[in-house]
This record gives sequence, structure tokens and C-alpha cells, in this order.
Amino acid sequence: MPTSTSISGRIHSVETCGTVDGPGIRFVVFMQGCPLRCLYCHNPDCRQLDAGKPVTVDELMQEIQSYKSYLRKGGVTVSGGEPLMQPDFVEELLRRCQQEGIHTALDTSGYVLATSKSVLKYADLVLLDIKSFDPQIYTNVTSVSIVPTLNFARYLNEIHKPTWIRFVLVPGLTDAPHNIEGLADFVATLSNVEKVEVLPFHKMGEYKWEQLGYPYQLQETQPPTSELIEQTLNIFSSRGIPALAG
Ligand code: SF4
Repeated sequence: MPTSTSISGRIHSVETCGTVDGPGIRFVVFMQGCPLRCLYCHNPDCRQLDAGKPVTVDELMQEIQSYKSYLRKGGVTVSGGEPLMQPDFVEELLRRCQQEGIHTALDTSGYVLATSKSVLKYADLVLLDIKSFDPQIYTNVTSVSIVPTLNFARYLNEIHKPTWIRFVLVPGLTDAPHNIEGLADFVATLSNVEKVEVLPFHKMGEYKWEQLGYPYQLQETQPPTSELIEQTLNIFSSRGIPALAG
């Protein structure tokens, strides 16, 4: 690995006061690059690894340090895109945060396990996005296979890594009962999972798809009703899994 001062990565953006990506108030780093193609992605401009802006770990740490007082009650979350597309950078960033006593969270689709094991050492919490359980629905949503993500989830369980599962509820796409029940049954086998967050589908990123010239297939899809959200939460809680709407 290069020395810490020279490690450079490409980021999409940062959010200095995030409240939805981990516990407390978070400094969120959105990394560039993602191998998935989720139909509802609200950051489609994160796809390409060579886009975004270059930054070194030192530069980012300087910025993070300036928010350190409020990060004591929250921490730093590395999200994306898929952060594990840039494992050396993310490992060093999380390591430096932990060294400073800052809580670290990694938000990932779990698609890239092989290069990720050393990164996971420095993540206090993993936010694992499992976008469906039925393999065909998963592929319809993401354009990739579910198998790496399930293996990733099993590995997190093996190493007893505190994990939150995140599932995006999309009417007509991911809301089939067998899909949600399958996910709940799978999660119930994992003793490291602290909770499930059910994230209601929204279209806030649709304008970015238009700007980029990508065809957006969910134009006619509406956000889930409160009744559907409640039913989904009940599927998880009936299996003893703490679940809440994100
Ligand atoms: S994993 Fe995240 S960043 Fe990648 S396509 Fe899906 S929603 Fe977008």
C-alpha cells in the first residue's frame, strides 16, 4: 500500500451534517465509482470511477478534524457509489478516523468482498444494503447477482461486525411478500445485525438521470404508502428483528 500521505482517491462529494447514514450526526464521504446500476439510484453520477474529484486522505482528514467537536456524538460514514471500489483509500481514511477516536461506518452493497476484509477492520459499523432477496428481483434492480452480497453478509456475521441492513421498498419492484419474507428469514440467521432500516422509495435523484441522459425507468412509480411500510416492518419484527423506516 502507498504511504498514508500519498493515498489519493476520487470522491463525489461530502455532506458535513448527515443524519441518515449511521448513528448521530455524520460527516459523510460519497466515494466515486459503483459496479451496480440500481434503477432507483439517487447518485447516478457516482457510477464512473474516473469522475468526481481527486482528494488525499490527509486533505479529507483536515476537513474532518474541523468538525470533530460535533462528530463526537456521531462519526464519519463512507458511502457512495461503492466505497469498496477504492479499498486502500477507504481503509486509510477509516483507520485515521479511528485513531482520532471518531466512530466509523461503511455503507456498502457488499458486492466486492475479496479486497474488503482489511477495510472492515477499521469500520465500527457496516450499513449493508441488500436490495432484494429474490435473485431475479435483485438482478432486475441492480443489474448484478445477489450472491456476492449474501456472502458478504455471512462474512460480517462470522467476524461479529455490528451491522445495519438497509432495504429500499419500491412498490411494484421490491415489495413482493416472498421477497421481503425471504430477506427477513435470511437476516434472522445473522446474529450481528442490530436492526433493519426500510427506506421508502423516492424520486429525488430523477433529475440527475435526465441531466446525464440515462433512461429512468421508475417515472410512474409512486413512493410506498404508510400501510405498505408498516406491513414491511411487521415482516421483520415478527421474526424478532428490530426494524424501522429510514
Ligand atoms: S449501489 Fe448505491 S450508488 Fe450504486 S447504483 Fe446502487 S444506489 Fe446507486
